Amino acid sequence: MTTELQHLIGGKLVSGTSGRFADVYSPMTGEVRARVPLASVEEMRAAVENAKEAQRGWAATNPQRRARVLMRFLDLVQRDYDELALLLSLEHGKTIVDAKGDIQRGLEVVEFACGIPHLLKGEFTDGAGPGIDIYSMRQPLGVVAGITPFNFPAMIPMWKFAPAIACGNAFILKPSERTPGVPVKLAELMLEAGLPAGILNVVHGDKVAVDAILDDRDIKAVGFVGSTPIAEYIYNRGCANGKRVQCFGGAKNHALVMPDADLDQATDALIGAGFGAAGERCMAISVVVPVGRKTADALMDRLIPRVESLKVGPSTDSSADFGPLVTAEHLERVKSYVDLGVKEGARLAVDGRNFKMQGYENGFYMGGCLFDEVKPDMRIYKEEIFGPVLSVVRADSYEEALSLPNDHEYGNGVAIFTRDGDAARDFASRVDVGMVGINVPIPVPLAYYTFGGWKRSGFGDLNQHGPDAVRFYTKTKTVTSRWPSGVKEGASFVIPTME
Ligand code: NAD
Repeated sequence: MTTELQHLIGGKLVSGTSGRFADVYSPMTGEVRARVPLASVEEMRAAVENAKEAQRGWAATNPQRRARVLMRFLDLVQRDYDELALLLSLEHGKTIVDAKGDIQRGLEVVEFACGIPHLLKGEFTDGAGPGIDIYSMRQPLGVVAGITPFNFPAMIPMWKFAPAIACGNAFILKPSERTPGVPVKLAELMLEAGLPAGILNVVHGDKVAVDAILDDRDIKAVGFVGSTPIAEYIYNRGCANGKRVQCFGGAKNHALVMPDADLDQATDALIGAGFGAAGERCMAISVVVPVGRKTADALMDRLIPRVESLKVGPSTDSSADFGPLVTAEHLERVKSYVDLGVKEGARLAVDGRNFKMQGYENGFYMGGCLFDEVKPDMRIYKEEIFGPVLSVVRADSYEEALSLPNDHEYGNGVAIFTRDGDAARDFASRVDVGMVGINVPIPVPLAYYTFGGWKRSGFGDLNQHGPDAVRFYTKTKTVTSRWPSGVKEGASFVIPTME
C-alpha cells in the first residue's frame, strides 16, 4: 500500500479532495514511496480563507511573542534532526550529511528571524514641523505564499516562512510535489512550538495550485524559487494581479581559475561544488574557466582522476560523495545533455552515463561527467543541466574569462580562484552576477545578508532573507501627527511645507 500524504491546513492534516495525485519516489531505490495530493482551486481558496481569519490575531500578537515561537521551533528541529534528515534524503536522494546541511542553512534564517522585532521598528522625527511629529511603521501584508523547488526541501521553505511569519503574516507554502514530506513535518513542528492554527499552511499541488495562488485576491505576496521559465511566468502573472512578487530562477555558475591559483585547493573546491548533491544545487559550479593553456592542462590533469574516482552511493551511505538524482525523468534529461555535448563537439573527458549502482539497479544514479573544450555557443554551455556534469571552457585571458559570466543569461553565483588581490577585487567589482566567491566556490551568503541572483536568475527587486525579507513581507505606513495644543492657523489651501 502506498502512503497517501496530506495537506496541513488550519492546524490539521487533511486529505486531498481533488482526486488528483502525484507519485513521490525514493530515488535511492526507484520505488514509489508515497503519493501526494494535488490541490484544486477550491482547496486552495479554503486554505487562504482560513489563513486570512487566523492572520488578524497573529498580526496583533506582539513581535517578541511571535519570535518566541521560532525560538521553540529551533529546539524542536534539533530534537528531530536525524529523522528529518533521513526523510529528506529518502525523498530527494542527497546524502544524509548533506540533508543535515540543507536543514542547517534553513535554521540559520529562522535564527535571524528571531531578531526581526528589531528590524520591524519604525522611524520617528520629533518636531518635523511646528507641533508636528512624523513616524513610520512596518505592518504585515496579510496572507502571503511561497512556492518552492525540489532541491532544498527544508532550507528554502524556512527561508520563506520564518521571516514572513515573524513579520506577522500568515503563510501558504506550496512545496515541490517531488519532495513534499519535510515541509509538512516542519509545519507540524511550528504548531508544536506554539504557532496558532492557520498561520502556516502546507498545500501540495502542481500548476493548478500555483495558478490558484497567483489569482487569489487575498494573497498579497508570492515568493518563488525554481527554474527560470516558471519564475518568469509566476512573476508576470503575479504582478499582473497586483501582488508583490520575488522569483529566483536557474543558474549557470562559473568558476574562473587564474594562472596563479593554488590548483590543488581549486580542484578540491570545484569537485565539491560541482558534484555535491549530484549537481542539483542552484549554486553548484557547472562551468570552469581556466585562464591560459598551461592552467587549463594542469587543471584537467587534476580534475580527471578526481571525477573518475567520485563515489556515488545510496543516500544512506555515509561514505558516498553524492547520491541519485531526484527522478528517472530528470536523470534521462541530464544524460541527454551529455549526449548533446558529445554531438556538439565538446570533449567528454570522463563519462559517467553508464554507471549502475550494484544492489540498487532501479535507482536514479549516474556517475560524474567532465567536459573539456566546451564553447560558448553550445547548448550544454548556455542551458542549465542541473546534474553531475562539469564543463571546462578554456579562455586565453582574464578579460575573455570575465566576459563569459558577464555575457551569460544567468547571473546567480560565480567564483574566482587566485592569489592576486588586485585581480580578485577587479573581478568582484566588474562581474555581472549577484553572489561572488573569492577562493570560495559556493558563496551562499549567511542569513543576515541577502541571497539573490541577477539577470534571468532573479525577477523582482528584493532578495531573500536578511533585511530584504523584512522589506518584502511588510508594508510601510507613515503617520504625520499634530495634537490640538499645537499651532492653530486655520484652513490652508497650499501644500504643507513644514517651514
Ligand atoms: P521547477 O521550476 O520545476 O518547480 C518549482 C516549483 O514550481 C514547484 O513547486 C513546482 O510545483 C512549481 N511548478 C512547476 N511547473 C510549474 C508550472 N508549469 N506552472 C506553475 N508552477 C509550476 O523547479 P525544480 O525542478 O523543483 O527546481 C530546480 C530549479 O530551481 C533549478 O532551475 C534551480 O536552479 C532552481 N533553484 C534556484 C534557486 C535560487 O535561489 N535561484 C534555488 C534552488 C533552486
